[in-house]
Amino acid sequence: MRKKTQLIHGGIVGDEQTGAVSVPIYQVSTYKQEAVGKHKGYEYSRTGNPTRHALEELIKDLEGGVAGFAFGSGMAAITATVMLFNSGDHIILTDDVYGGTYRVMNKVLNRFGIESTFVDTSDVENIKKALKPNTKALYIETPTNPLLKITDIEAVSNWAKSEDLLTIVDNTFSTPYWQNPIKLGADIVLHSATKYLGGHSDVVAGLVVVNDNKLAEDLHFIQNSTGGVLGPQDSWLLIRGIKTLGVRMEEHETNTNKIVEFLSTHPKVEKIYYPGLPSHPYHEIAQKQGSGFGGMLSFDVGSEEAADKLLAKIKYFTLAESLGAVESLISVPAKMTHASIPPERRQELGITDGLVRISVGLEDVEDLIEDLKQALEL
Ligand SMILES: *Cc1c(COP(=O)(O)O)cnc(C)c1O
Repeated sequence: MRKKTQLIHGGIVGDEQTGAVSVPIYQVSTYKQEAVGKHKGYEYSRTGNPTRHALEELIKDLEGGVAGFAFGSGMAAITATVMLFNSGDHIILTDDVYGGTYRVMNKVLNRFGIESTFVDTSDVENIKKALKPNTKALYIETPTNPLLKITDIEAVSNWAKSEDLLTIVDNTFSTPYWQNPIKLGADIVLHSATKYLGGHSDVVAGLVVVNDNKLAEDLHFIQNSTGGVLGPQDSWLLIRGIKTLGVRMEEHETNTNKIVEFLSTHPKVEKIYYPGLPSHPYHEIAQKQGSGFGGMLSFDVGSEEAADKLLAKIKYFTLAESLGAVESLISVPAKMTHASIPPERRQELGITDGLVRISVGLEDVEDLIEDLKQALEL
């Protein structure tokens, strides 16, 4: 089955009993048992719910793993995944991971004895140097947010395997439509499904897919024990969103290419970060490991004042955190998504005050370009 077909026919489709083509929303907490322990596979909706199960099967198929899990947010998915490890274990992470990932590792999970080291994982040598006797996993995000740095998934997961580490990939930016980390050697793939998978700025959710039965058993145990599950209504919304993921991603990318082309020649734009640009330092790796470059790009307008001016004048790009939805969004990472990262650290990473990130939506791209043009004028 090809990707666009799988988006629509993957997982569990419709309802056998009625012939409904859409999975019903099983708004239910508990299930009748015929005798003690004799039931139809569902006992209690924290443990399992048919609508959530349909979504979990779908994401499993899309990522090519053995089991999928749906959580109440991307952060709940990430937290549950890190709970696979024990106090005293060490994890190496990409240095410009999502701000919330940095925060949960440094302010919450550290209190339970999970150690972490953040390095630029786009260079495997940095990862090797961070290895400790208690290192148990490598956690990468690629492309990263907001600088769109790329890590070679196949290269780093091969190395991780040789050191007995699990490789975990946050695949939020690429989505399973463009990139399948498990097929490149990763063990666990996770998503903030709030972004492209949902796609309509109307649901907060997280998904995890694992490549092995033991991991599946352990993660289900954690999901059921800690309880951060996704509700049936939101599971249904995600299934609906995923059906159009292919057409949306194609169009996001078409629009992005045109915007990149426009920004590339604009005198006020000092630098553009987009992996689809042949001049992007990781262009070739991005091309090798994915089938598209996505709809996220960042550009530097040189100063906080210039960024403020742009934001004050822009009309069609909504000033908001988040990404991946039908409406174009604009943000200044230093003050928004990455505000929880200390200023010195932001400077080190290159997340300057003049850096503007856009999530290109599905509006008419001519309107988006005209809007950027007027907003970039003095
Ligand atoms: C948004 C995001 C998260 C967190 O997901 P939530 O659904 O907001 O909890 C994690 N990783 C990346 C790359 C994200 O963009």
